[in-house]
Amino acid sequence: MKRRDMTIEQDKGCAIHACCSPMANPQKTASCPACGAVGEPVKSITLRSLLQPHLLQQVQDEGYRFCASPECQLVYFSTDGAQTFSRGDLTLRVGVKEVGAPRPLCYCFDHSAESLREDWVLNGKSTILESIKAEVKAGNCRCEVTNPSGGCCLGDVIKKMKAIAAAERGPSNGL
Ligand SMILES: [Zn+2]
Repeated sequence: MKRRDMTIEQDKGCAIHACCSPMANPQKTASCPACGAVGEPVKSITLRSLLQPHLLQQVQDEGYRFCASPECQLVYFSTDGAQTFSRGDLTLRVGVKEVGAPRPLCYCFDHSAESLREDWVLNGKSTILESIKAEVKAGNCRCEVTNPSGGCCLGDVIKKMKAIAAAERGPSNGL
């Protein structure tokens, strides 16, 4: 595995929405030992917030990745491959890896793929998306310690919203 120099400039992140800033110091890419997908850097504070209590002692200060593959059971792995944490090791449902309802999307304000769809059908627009945007703007999100990916949910919510809108406009596409 190629090691990159560790002197990458540290970005402290946006002071207002630190939770939504990209991971400050991705030292190298790392692939999920289970599915091979490239993991997204995730801070240890996210693992410490979401793993089952008995696993917390194992969490090191850095070097973790989040596997976003829907079909993969692993959620976190260490870049050296020594540690892996799977779905059952977390205290919450990882929406992207769930097939059945509810599939959480926004962890700070408790919205799921299902509630997003209901809202769209009921209101003809996404009032949830509007409310999340307002909350983010107000600095009320805590994605770093609520979202398994450690990042802002807005991208995922918008993507899902587009899929819902497309399906609802179509003839009979159930989501
Ligand atoms: Zn994986």
